[in-house]
Amino acid sequence: MTDGFNKKVSRRSLLKSAAVLAGVAAVPGLMATKQALASKAPKAAMQYRDHPNGNKDCSICMQFIPGKSPKANGTCKVVAGSISPHGYCIAWAPKA
Ligand code: SF4
Repeated sequence: MTDGFNKKVSRRSLLKSAAVLAGVAAVPGLMATKQALASKAPKAAMQYRDHPNGNKDCSICMQFIPGKSPKANGTCKVVAGSISPHGYCIAWAPKA
């Protein structure tokens, strides 16, 4: 009788421990993912430049966040730093 009780308790304890361990193990991975999503790529890594590539420039890229005026620098969702509306990088993608 007590063996069955101990087995139940042991199984329950084991499952709780496994759940806690899985949660602990998942947190650093989750934080790393959030951090990766929050950080932007350096300009050099994205081959950013302050001039267009033909008719492709940041002002018509879906990642561009405009500045205070159409000629002012803005920011980018994926590239770090101040971004010229007439810049370009390898992540360029047309606005929908
Ligand atoms: S992804 Fe590149 S091309 Fe597009 S806005 Fe950002 S820096 Fe400009």
